[in-house]
Amino acid sequence: MPDTTSPFGGFAIDFGAAGDAAPLAAVPLAPTPAADGPLETSVLILGSGPAGLTAAIYAARAGLAPIVLAGYQPGGQLTITTDVENYPGFPEGIQGPELMLRFRQQAERFGARVFDVEADRVDFSNRPFRAWAGGAEYRGQAVIVATGASAIWLGLPSEERLRGHGVSACATCDGFFFRDKAVAVVGGGDTAIEEALYLTRFASKVHLLHRRDEFRASKIMQVRAESHPGIEIHRSVTVDEVLGEESVTGVRLRDVKTGTTSDLPVDGFFLAIGHRPNTAPFEGWLARDEKGYLVVAHETHSAIEGIFIAGDVHDHRYRQAITAAGDGCRAAIDAERWLEEHGAVETPAAAAW
Ligand code: NAP
Repeated sequence: MPDTTSPFGGFAIDFGAAGDAAPLAAVPLAPTPAADGPLETSVLILGSGPAGLTAAIYAARAGLAPIVLAGYQPGGQLTITTDVENYPGFPEGIQGPELMLRFRQQAERFGARVFDVEADRVDFSNRPFRAWAGGAEYRGQAVIVATGASAIWLGLPSEERLRGHGVSACATCDGFFFRDKAVAVVGGGDTAIEEALYLTRFASKVHLLHRRDEFRASKIMQVRAESHPGIEIHRSVTVDEVLGEESVTGVRLRDVKTGTTSDLPVDGFFLAIGHRPNTAPFEGWLARDEKGYLVVAHETHSAIEGIFIAGDVHDHRYRQAITAAGDGCRAAIDAERWLEEHGAVETPAAAAW
């Protein structure tokens, strides 16, 4: 697991359990592939965020019996977010983990097999394309890459040392531990403000630390943060160091205009400074742009025939659950048509987009 991708200290969702609020029955998880040979499918989907699971719903409903390798963070980034208020169909909002549980249940209901393993290597040289995860081999006549993006860390040694001891990149997972304590959130985008607002449910004070005067976040979020009595905004400051031996006791701030430093006592330090696409297994196979995101050749096709790309792993413009889901739908349709054209599957009688 790359070190940019494990901020959550064991956070996990029991996808096997259908809660009261989940009307769809989860089909039993497919057995873990044994050593007696690779598991084969028409469509192998890498990633289980909105893009991967929407692709799985569409591919499954087209009779393609997709296999999904869910990755180290099943459900993707939404499983570490709180209220999702902009996903259509949920006028009251929905919790990110519950939304992703429903995506998964919907895919499994139509026959998708989802494995909670992370693809660490691929071979896209020939069909069937191959991927390895958890020591097992998986083969697909087509592959949809939907591995998403992961939280970025500042890269300070003190931040790394105190990870799990007051340093976190997931307010949803760890906010509970900071009841009546002061915390800091670093970042100036929507995520930082969302995390700061969430933390006000627990913390006595939330310090929002941003390196510029202007926020990148949407106006509505910015106004919410500015008007919240539990949030104190510090503009034009960077973090030099996270303080504390056994656990976080504060952060050393630098005023970027004057260069002066000051210590701010806090018990928790939350990172919310953006994300990096999860592309490591595809190095040497799929092209990346200057920011490291995968490059789509046309529609959802990559430069390799039969390999498709969907969601945040290539999209650094929109990066929304709804756009990723739409992309997953497009990739599944493109994959199904491509498979038909190449005679890899018979025209599915029950295809019902
Ligand atoms: P983002 O928009 O890229 O913002 C990252 C923030 O972190 C920026 O303010 C950036 O500062 C700051 N930053 C980056 N590197 C830093 C560093 N090394 N030190 C200090 N600060 C650093 O990322 P995001 O907030 O995660 O949002 C990603 C996308 O998801 C956006 O499109 C956002 O709208 C969307 N999103 C939407 C919602 C929602 O609608 N409910 C919620 C969350 C996210 P600068 O501004 O100076 O570059």
